Amino acid sequence: PPDVNKLGSASWTFLHAMAAKYPEKPTPLQQEEMTDFLNIFSHVYPCFWCAKDFEKYITENAPKVKSQEELSTWMCQAHNKVNKKLGKAQFNCDFWKPRWKEGWDE
Ligand code: FAD
Repeated sequence: PPDVNKLGSASWTFLHAMAAKYPEKPTPLQQEEMTDFLNIFSHVYPCFWCAKDFEKYITENAPKVKSQEELSTWMCQAHNKVNKKLGKAQFNCDFWKPRWKEGWDE
């Protein structure tokens, strides 16, 4: 199976990029699909205990899908929750855009 850390950093790249490209004014269908996607993601993520915690996080903090800004900030906060659990530094969510939309630098 893939290494949990490699799987994690690849998956966060995907999740933050997806949020950064999410529409600024999503249609009701796009909002529904993103909510469904995140729920399904939390069931199929191939690290069982990671998936369980993410599922719990989603249940307690429903994905915010009304705009790109809202979703990107929600994703950042979800990632920070995992960072905290793992003893990693918190990321300043004011900087999601230069990191994941404009920048792409590490
Ligand atoms: P990562 O945490 O993978 O981050 C990658 C890059 O994202 C960083 O270099 C930084 O530039 C940027 N970044 C960091 N924080 C944020 C943020 N808050 N918002 C935006 N950008 C940010 N690992 C476990 O050991 N146990 C778990 O339970 C666990 N659960 C996970 C649940 C999910 C849903 C996912 C996707 C991953 C999970 N992981 C878990 C993996 C873990 O989060 C890391 O991906 C892994 O430890 C590798 O960390 P990293 O140092 O490469 O940086």
